[in-house]
Amino acid sequence: MSVRTDFATVEVPNDSRVQKNENNMEREKKRLLHYLRQERKRGGDEEFGRRIKTIQKLSQFSHGQSNPTYKLLVEMTDGTLKSYVLRKKPGGNILSSAHAVEREFQVQLALKRKHPNFPVPRMILLCEDSSILGTPFYIMDFVQGTIYLQPKLPVITREERKTRIYENMAKTLGALHSFDIRELGLTSFGNISSGNYSRRTLKRWFGQYEKSITNKLVETPEKEVVMKLVAWLDANCPKDGEEVSDRIIHGDYRLDNLIYDERSDDVLAVLDWELSTVGCPHADVAYNCLPYYLPPGLEFYPSFGDSNQVPAGVPTEKQYCNIWAQHARLPNICGSSKWKFYVALSMFRGMAILAGVRARAVAGNASSRNARQAGSLVEVFAKRAYVVVVQGGASKVPRQEIKGGYEPSEKCMMFLEKLRAFMSEHVYDAEEVFERHATTNERWSVHPLMEELKKKAKAKGLWNLWLPLDSAALIKITNARGNDEALYKGPGLTNLEYAHLAREMGKVPWASEIFNCSAPDTGNMEVLLRYGTKEQQERWLLPLLMGDIRSCFAMTEPAVASSDATNIESSIAKSTNGTQYVVNGRKWWTSGACDPRCAIAIFMGKTKKTGPQHEQQSMVLVPMLNNHKVKVVRPLLVFGYDDAPHGHAEVIFDNVVVDVKESLLAREGAGFAIAQGRLGPGRLHHCMRLVGMAERSLDVTYARVKSRVAFGKPLSENSNVLNVLGNCRVEVDGARLLTLYAAHVLDQLGIKDSRARSAVAACKISAPNVACSVIDRCIQLFGGEGVSQDSPLARLYAGARTLRIADGPDEVHLETVAKIDLRRSKL
Ligand SMILES: Cc1cc2nc3c(=O)[nH]c(=O)nc-3n(C[C@H](O)[C@H](O)[C@H](O)COP(=O)(O)OP(=O)(O)OC[C@H]3O[C@@H](n4cnc5c(N)ncnc54)[C@H](O)[C@@H]3O)c2cc1C
Repeated sequence: MSVRTDFATVEVPNDSRVQKNENNMEREKKRLLHYLRQERKRGGDEEFGRRIKTIQKLSQFSHGQSNPTYKLLVEMTDGTLKSYVLRKKPGGNILSSAHAVEREFQVQLALKRKHPNFPVPRMILLCEDSSILGTPFYIMDFVQGTIYLQPKLPVITREERKTRIYENMAKTLGALHSFDIRELGLTSFGNISSGNYSRRTLKRWFGQYEKSITNKLVETPEKEVVMKLVAWLDANCPKDGEEVSDRIIHGDYRLDNLIYDERSDDVLAVLDWELSTVGCPHADVAYNCLPYYLPPGLEFYPSFGDSNQVPAGVPTEKQYCNIWAQHARLPNICGSSKWKFYVALSMFRGMAILAGVRARAVAGNASSRNARQAGSLVEVFAKRAYVVVVQGGASKVPRQEIKGGYEPSEKCMMFLEKLRAFMSEHVYDAEEVFERHATTNERWSVHPLMEELKKKAKAKGLWNLWLPLDSAALIKITNARGNDEALYKGPGLTNLEYAHLAREMGKVPWASEIFNCSAPDTGNMEVLLRYGTKEQQERWLLPLLMGDIRSCFAMTEPAVASSDATNIESSIAKSTNGTQYVVNGRKWWTSGACDPRCAIAIFMGKTKKTGPQHEQQSMVLVPMLNNHKVKVVRPLLVFGYDDAPHGHAEVIFDNVVVDVKESLLAREGAGFAIAQGRLGPGRLHHCMRLVGMAERSLDVTYARVKSRVAFGKPLSENSNVLNVLGNCRVEVDGARLLTLYAAHVLDQLGIKDSRARSAVAACKISAPNVACSVIDRCIQLFGGEGVSQDSPLARLYAGARTLRIADGPDEVHLETVAKIDLRRSKL
């Protein structure tokens, strides 16, 4: 949402920034007019009062300002109408140091005088006489422009504009921090003598926090974590002389305190100087960067949510700080341990301010809505500061793992930790890049970042994690041409061990590819391992294991019900001399066929039209690159997603000729059996990824419901929301355990054992259904954003829903489970 500051043309209906109610202002208007006309003013535009004929309007803005702020519309003596802004201290009992409008006036006046190009409104006059309007006030020019309330800039569609808006915000703050306080005449503006800025700030706001919790009626669930946080801040506070602390700092520098020119995206004015002082510029820019750290959905402090949700065009935190540093002519410490301190200090200050609001609300000096909002935010801020900064990042919180049962083995744990670290370091941050790429005309090409990430994963040994020892033992390759055997054979994890890793990868839809663990390649590699000759393995399996090519599996046909593989009608006809096959058929849902790296298809068709039904099909290898007999007709869309560059294609195989020896897998008539075997571990992989998808959805939803306030309280305080979340957890854990059990049984007995087949079928029913239902409920709790591209939920849902159909629909797996049970019951 954006707001035009000229509220005669407010664009947003029901916008809370502007109260249009001008009742009871007549008395103030009269007094003000009298004062302006009678007095000769000092310090600003001394002639201002003389030029005023009458005050037409005085009406209050209501967004965010703790100092009441009014728009003043006046008729000048020459007949023109002019707008100004009047800002005053609030009435009632307030701390003497708080709401100091005099200081706001002083700093802006000094800035405008010394640096006329710095964007602050022109100061007109300051009135310290409380008898006029009840408290001191000042008047400044009204700046017409646009204020953006949301850091994600949802109203701006062009990426380069988002970049410009952020660059200009950083430049403006940098410029402020480059000014010399002596030149500005503001050396006494801050309390420099009482220690360095950070120590002062910590002391001041800890004192405020302690005062705010003296009332026994105030609930303080955050207290323990606040104490730990304060201890950490105290221990890590820069010593005197260690920090720059002689600059003017704004104290509340955030996007929604800036007015922009909508055409040039220049900053026209920086508002709300209430917390400005002389202090540490690094602390000021760290506060400015809080949207990179705070959870999504905070009404008071809007953020990007997770850092991976920083929208296209908006710089990363590091890039942003670089721009700032260049203009401030100060070092960029973003990412260092000092930086963590300043981020934590900023959150701590925010927490203490909110604790004050909570205390005032409990004491009856603020609305109960504010009290609840502030109350829940105090905890969010304190915990976020502690987790993000003290423990080194939300995703790196050490967790004690449960041992035994189906929980990760020590070997698995080692890979799990590496994988989690890799995901936090590289994958979540890249989500936005791939999402953006998927919306461009280049989306059918592979983003270079994918290959870069693959290289990094290889270097960390996070490669072919899906490949169990017994499958790796089937590798017949002798001509490995300098390829690293440890890499293509993988680390030899069991299905159970890999299941834990697949769950982690499932949290980001395209992550498995980075570790060479994605469908349909894993299933196809399994087929080549089990049924491929040495030559076939060397030609196709090796580059697949090394991630140099990709593959597809062409079984399903539009013309027949393909959940019953005996229906497949494509033909694989032998040439008269018996050395070649001629392959014909129309396939669809051939996942991966659109990928420019897709070099090989495993094609299923009939080599015989008579004989036992399960013996008529065979599988052959069909080269895909530059094969003009293979036509990719179109990518099919899943609820509008084309999954580029991978794609689910409709493909025509038109008289494709392949060599029998080179292409046939196993033997003629083995197609049905291969299809069954191919999908055992592959189904498990899907199931664990689905569990990961459901868990990711819950994770983003937890953050959302804690911070999103409706009808006076966070969503998480509604019992029906807790009910929904509780049920989701029960169901996700059920699906997870069923899948781990299936992996365990598969490891022990192999897919030929009916107990393993039943267990795999059971989790193939449970996991996609649970994931769909959980993600659907998360979408509901998210509201509109849940179905949009701004949350990961819509894409996750689309992916989960397909898996109730792909690799066999639910009904077919239910039949398998029931038939095996019935057979057992006969014994
Ligand atoms: C995103 C996606 C990716 C895919 N990737 C591939 C791929 O890479 N390669 C490939 O070959 N295929 C792929 N498929 C195809 C998938 O495997 C088939 O869609 C699936 O096997 C069902 O076949 P069908 O679509 O022909 O449905 P049909 O066989 O026509 O079945 C339709 C419906 O009938 C019902 N039904 C079927 N059998 C029974 C029964 N015994 N009892 C009761 N009801 C029943 C079910 O509700 C089923 O959904 C993919 C599908 C999707 C959606």
